[in-house]
Order: sequence, then structure tokens, then C-alpha cells
Amino acid sequence: MVEEQIVFRGIKSQQVISAMLKVPRHLFVPLSLRYEAYGDYPLPVGEGQTISQPYMVAEMTADLELKSEDKVLEIGTGSGYQSAVLAEIVKKVFTIEKIVSLANKAELLLQKLGYKNVFIEVGDGSQGLQAHAPYDGILVTAGAPQIPEPLFKQLKEEGRLIIPIGDRIFQTLTKVKKIKGKLIKEKLFDCMFVPLLGTYGWRNGSE
Ligand code: SAM
Repeated sequence: MVEEQIVFRGIKSQQVISAMLKVPRHLFVPLSLRYEAYGDYPLPVGEGQTISQPYMVAEMTADLELKSEDKVLEIGTGSGYQSAVLAEIVKKVFTIEKIVSLANKAELLLQKLGYKNVFIEVGDGSQGLQAHAPYDGILVTAGAPQIPEPLFKQLKEEGRLIIPIGDRIFQTLTKVKKIKGKLIKEKLFDCMFVPLLGTYGWRNGSE
């Protein structure tokens, strides 16, 4: 997976490559799909949600430009796979999931795997997590209609926010930097994520 899907497509970050070699992705997918765990695509993880394609996880992680001392916020814990990859690289990972059953399952697995630097919260991640702000990096793993204001506020100066922005189906992966308090935006590439629901995301199933 790492050679053919990640290094081959140009990911050079050694920290990302090492992290993805280390985290056992098959444990984060449902038992019935384990044989597909290392395929070049996202997979369902229950409750209508998905674990992202391995390359997407690598790309988003690399785009965060992480350092080992960093504190990162992830919105959309899902299976917990992306949280584990982040936890291999940085000091602390806070992650928020709105679906209780997914959060509980991810928490159990991450504990079992020995991750002591991942902290899971249940709630509306579109509001961020003020209690532990500011963050060096914020990663949103669901598609948003716009940049949620609280997330930008909770970024440190020179912090990075990676977020898919667009409609409910198609988005553009977007990198936001906070430079002298100002928002500097860079469009990376087109992508497809499940919707970010909540106050600063999509309001309901039809909007
Ligand atoms: N990062 C996950 C992984 O590694 O498995 C994949 C996340 S999945 C593509 C998107 C997740 O975002 C879903 O689990 C969904 O329930 C969650 N989500 C959507 N809106 C949310 C919100 N406002 N707050 C927290 N989680 C949210």
C-alpha cells in the first residue's frame, strides 16, 4: 500500500511514510472488509460513514506540515485510523466525532493499540474544541460548505487547517494558513467526502 499508492504518487514526507507503515489499517475496518483494508479506495465503517482512501490520509497528513511537538485537532474520528496516523507523528491529537458508537469503537481500538496521546470527544466538531485550543494543525475529514469560523480562530499563528470545501458531494481539498492573523488559502485538488454536519457545516440531510 505505502509503496504503490503513497510513495509512487509523490508523498515524500518520511514521517508520514513511517506512520503509515506502522498503523495496522486492517484493524480499523469492519471484519467483513478486512481483505480489502489496503485497497486504493475508501471503505464503509458503519453508520453511513467511511475510512478515507490511504492516499488521502497520507496527503492530508503531509499537508499539515507537522512537527513532533505539535498539538493537532481532527474533526471526524470515524474509525480512528487517521487519528492513529497523526498520533505516530505529533505529541497530542484531539479528535471529535458526532456519532457516539463510532467514537466509542475508535476509542477502544486506540486504547488497545496503546495510543496514549489521542483524546476523543463526542460532539459537533464544526465548532472546534475551544478547551484545548490553539492548535498547530486542524484536519477536517468531512466536506464543509465553507471554512468554519471557530476552526480558524482556534488555529495558532502559522497554524495549518486542511479541509474539503464544496457542496455535499464534491469538494476541493483546501489548505488554510494563519499568517499574521490573516487567512491564506490554497486549493489543492478535487475530492469527495461525507458531509460535515453541524452548526458550521451542513444543517440536515437535504440542505
Ligand atoms: N478520519 C476518519 C477515519 O480515519 O476513519 C474518517 C472520517 S469520515 C470520512 C467523516 C467523519 O466525520 C464521520 O465519521 C462523520 O460522522 C464525522 N462528522 C461529520 N460531521 C461531524 C461533526 N460536525 N463533528 C464531528 N464529526 C463529524
